[in-house]
Amino acid sequence: MHEPAIPSLTGADPEVARLVQAEARRQFEKVRLIASENYVSTAVLEATGSVLTNKYSEGYAGRRYYEGQQVVDPVEELAVARAKALFGADHANVQPYSGSPANLAVYMAFLDPGDTVMGMALPAGGHLTHGWGVSATGKWFRSVQYGVRKDTGVVDLDEVRDLARAEHPKVIFCGGTAIPRTIDFPAFAEIADEVGAVLAADIAHIAGLVAGGAHPSPVGHAQVITTTTHKTLRGPRGAMILTDAAHAKPIDKAVFPGLQGGPHNHTTAAIAVALGEALEPSFGLYAHAIVQNARALAVALLDRGFDLVSGGTDNHLVLVDLTGKGIAGKPAAKALDRAGIEANYNTVPFDPRKPFDPSGVRLGTAAITTRGLTADHMPKIAEWIDRAVRVADDGPELDRIAAEVADLMAGYPMPGWA
Ligand SMILES: *Cc1c(COP(=O)(O)O)cnc(C)c1O
Repeated sequence: MHEPAIPSLTGADPEVARLVQAEARRQFEKVRLIASENYVSTAVLEATGSVLTNKYSEGYAGRRYYEGQQVVDPVEELAVARAKALFGADHANVQPYSGSPANLAVYMAFLDPGDTVMGMALPAGGHLTHGWGVSATGKWFRSVQYGVRKDTGVVDLDEVRDLARAEHPKVIFCGGTAIPRTIDFPAFAEIADEVGAVLAADIAHIAGLVAGGAHPSPVGHAQVITTTTHKTLRGPRGAMILTDAAHAKPIDKAVFPGLQGGPHNHTTAAIAVALGEALEPSFGLYAHAIVQNARALAVALLDRGFDLVSGGTDNHLVLVDLTGKGIAGKPAAKALDRAGIEANYNTVPFDPRKPFDPSGVRLGTAAITTRGLTADHMPKIAEWIDRAVRVADDGPELDRIAAEVADLMAGYPMPGWA
């Protein structure tokens, strides 16, 4: 049963209520390895579902365009104060609706249309909003893209420096969606300094690891840091932008009135709750456990003959190149899903296949670590993954794996499920 219980929804709209219950059960029974997903606490769910959703509050605390902000102002101030304390940043804006709008605010603040931006190419592990062609950021700006080295699968900082010297970007993005290795923020900062660019560190995936001390922090290196709040940070769907004092004003003006109207106050409250949880000492243990689990999963997959981009992982994420297993990413992800193991198909660097059916799958350990799985479980998960991709066409066998998966997960409580 979904928790908090949903009796009013069940009475008013049984059709939607049934779907919400079905999703809660699905999340309970599966090994969820989508690297950008997690389970939020029941407290975060309650804040998200609160009456704060009823309130409009365009502007910032103390400077709003609507009356009645007696409660919303302290809610937002609490989220801002906790964000600054958690990351040690001068300034925090907690209003961006999600990670993509947060990145758009960086463009709005520091670039004019047609100006040059530099970011990691999507197929190499970057994000759409770092200047990829199909995104507004690639259409409306002049985008130059860096990648990873073919032999190492890791970002080539010499290439980044040469490109930056040649192209003079106004903004350089570092970070991405499928980077299994530590991001060298000081090295990026040196390059950005040399060419006079603003360095924007997009830590959407690793924010929880940074907060918990399991990945180096970009604070003090990147003038601007964008992040989602719902991946390893384990908050509601939303985003934040952290800046140094000098870059605070243009970012605030870009978020509102540049790009957005009223902030989602129920989300802001839930971000405050999640940040409060991340400030607890136990969150550091959680962040380190995520990395231990990813490392153990990587080792177990290597033992079973899987090829991993960059040969392993430093963080929460493992990028598997399935070429050697004789199956493409999409059929593998579909087979895994039927086997109770949720992942997404993903391009690998220099992928010879098409983006809609690439060669890899991306795995992450943030969600299963929240459920309480440990490094001891990772060989079993690797075995299920291996079995599932071998018998990808054998539905009944995939169903048998799914039953074993559900059996294991039944022993590990899920916040949001009673
Ligand atoms: C997830 C992600 C985003 C975008 O977040 P949305 O909330 O999906 O818009 C931006 N940048 C990176 C690196 C991400 O991983």
